[in-house]
Amino acid sequence: MRPDLGGIPDRPTLYDLTMALSLDLTTAPARAALSPRAGAPEKPPLIGLTRSELAEALVAAGIVPERQAKMRTQQLWHWLYVRGVSDFAEMFNISKELRGELDRHFSIARPEIVEEQISEDGTRKWLFRFPPRGAGRPVEIETVYIPEEGRGTLCISSQVGCTLTCSFCHTGTQKLVRNLTAEEILAQLMTARDRLGDFPDRDTPAGAIVPAEGRKVSNIVMMGMGEPLYNFEAVKKALLIASDGDGLSLSKRRITLSTSGVVPEIVRTGEEIGVMLAISLHATNDDLRDLLVPINKKYPLKELIAACRAYPGLSNARRITFEYVMLRDVNDSLDDAKALVKLLRGIPAKINLIPFNPWPGTNYQCSDWETIEKFADYINNAGYASPIRTPRGRDILAACGQLKSESERLKKTERLALEAMMIAGHGEA
Ligand code: SAH
Ligand code: SF4
Repeated sequence: MRPDLGGIPDRPTLYDLTMALSLDLTTAPARAALSPRAGAPEKPPLIGLTRSELAEALVAAGIVPERQAKMRTQQLWHWLYVRGVSDFAEMFNISKELRGELDRHFSIARPEIVEEQISEDGTRKWLFRFPPRGAGRPVEIETVYIPEEGRGTLCISSQVGCTLTCSFCHTGTQKLVRNLTAEEILAQLMTARDRLGDFPDRDTPAGAIVPAEGRKVSNIVMMGMGEPLYNFEAVKKALLIASDGDGLSLSKRRITLSTSGVVPEIVRTGEEIGVMLAISLHATNDDLRDLLVPINKKYPLKELIAACRAYPGLSNARRITFEYVMLRDVNDSLDDAKALVKLLRGIPAKINLIPFNPWPGTNYQCSDWETIEKFADYINNAGYASPIRTPRGRDILAACGQLKSESERLKKTERLALEAMMIAGHGEA
């Protein structure tokens, strides 16, 4: 086992997801056919609409008169986002007739849960299937829940696949299938909360104030598949609904959006969404970053760092997280650590060191533990919090090793190759 260096468990990334995916095979995975609505004809979703869009939809459908639109919107908002109901029939303070009309016109159903796996340590992974949008086909994405002492973090995807091609990232080898909609982004959170029993139960009196503290999902990170800032509008809508104080009411300080560096959208993220920012930095000079994170060719480090300095609300209490994947002999020397400290000088920052997660076909290797420790010590001494992502469940590696979509499941041979790589990685620890 790798030693725990006292790195503060910070937030899961694709790396942790990978680890999480490997947790389940030594336990009996809880799998179930959990898709009551699968195959139902498609009706427009109400989830993911802003309040005014919701009001408009009710009026346009001819089922709510204009003068009642605001009141009905409030009612629905409460049922959908405070109580988490996924069936109009449960909305007791709405007349049976209107509930029937709502059901005829709209959907509030959850996605199909193709698979749910629960590890011994409580980590859960869901494979969700979303229906086709327009002429497309159904898509599958994964969402992972990682409980930690005092918090539970849900890692959410924003796209199926990714248009960017970061050379160390498995998702980067998958073509973009499509952007997820605001509904689909929220559905990951809401379905996870259903499955964790994280919505108030039916007996909670109507109008009761449901506290945000003590929730099983206390934090969310946009660190699953895809580049969230290439799906800005849907991500913005979903995160504004997730942080709405009269609904899902997650604090914006507990929502982190990770970007590979889509510079023009960074300041907008702060202004229009107001969540915590994480930057996938991984290199301290343009030559190397061009290779690792090719979007750097479009938006080089100078511009990226300038956008970070300008991030609205930036302060010591609201620091930017810089993610730095540890790649053996590529970016892990002490000179790199020095350059990193120099590059970030003056930015309220936290540096999250991520041991590289290997996948079949990659030429990169994870830095050895001693190197990661030295690197962390250097930046720590320079005054930066530098948690190392200590992977959970690495002792029970087995299953496939990456976020997968329907078209991109690992073949058995690839899975075996991945297991061998992981075991080899273990030896160094
Ligand atoms: N597309 C966004 C968010 C998803 S990736 C982004 O790039 O920021 C979440 C984090 O996992 C990123 O920092 C990404 O660089 C990192 N990551 C991707 N592949 C990895 C791997 N194989 N090992 C370790 N970290 C990885
Ligand atoms: Fe992977 Fe993020 Fe790069 Fe896309 S942007 S390839 S998800 S690291």
